[in-house]
Amino acid sequence: MNNKLNILDSVLNDFETLCLVSELVKVNIKECNQELIYLPDVLKNNVEFRFPKYLSKNDDNNSLKNTCFFGRKEVAEKLDEISKELLNINKDASLVVSNVYRHPKIQEVNFKKVFDDIKAKFPLLSQDEQIEKTHLMIAYPKVAGHTTGGAIDLTIKIGDTLLDMGCEIGDFDKEEYLPVKNSYITKEQFENRLMLRKLMIRHEFAPFNGEWWHFSFGDREWAKIYNKEYAIYDVVNNID
Ligand SMILES: [Zn+2]
Repeated sequence: MNNKLNILDSVLNDFETLCLVSELVKVNIKECNQELIYLPDVLKNNVEFRFPKYLSKNDDNNSLKNTCFFGRKEVAEKLDEISKELLNINKDASLVVSNVYRHPKIQEVNFKKVFDDIKAKFPLLSQDEQIEKTHLMIAYPKVAGHTTGGAIDLTIKIGDTLLDMGCEIGDFDKEEYLPVKNSYITKEQFENRLMLRKLMIRHEFAPFNGEWWHFSFGDREWAKIYNKEYAIYDVVNNID
């Protein structure tokens, strides 16, 4: 038990580690075949589902809109516990979930768009280096978390007001503000990010230090960060 607490504590306090694609592809997966469920059907109290801003801008993302609130069963159970714990911290607080599952085809299309930009901007880098750089902004499809139904983008609101995190979810125009720890945000904004981070890590979600709103359970990033022998969620190609 102590060992587990030590790991959670070191993950909480490590704001630097960003897993490389070259490390993540080496993580084995033993798919546990846990079902994907439509989260709004089971999380009715204290969790709001809101489409992320970046989806409304882009019409080809309509199919993503239809499936983005599906997630693995254990993710749903953990979110239920987290939303209850949040109530103990502040009785007006609730979770705002903006994206869970993403179809692998959409991940590929979106990755390719960013990759082409990076390639144009940094033509002297090797292809592997261009992939690693792209992966910091959008996950390399083979190792992506959202395509497994185990990754989640979320934030917290108090009453009707979103907690001030320094930038919104998916606010890629404010690139410097995205990493959990950076020199642009105020102390209060950082404390708000920490509140979310602590809640999620306590339930063994792995944080992504490159985006304050992204956490994952069961995917390769989770296995890597928590030194698991293998990931338990593989890419899901179809939702029945
Ligand atoms: Zn995400």
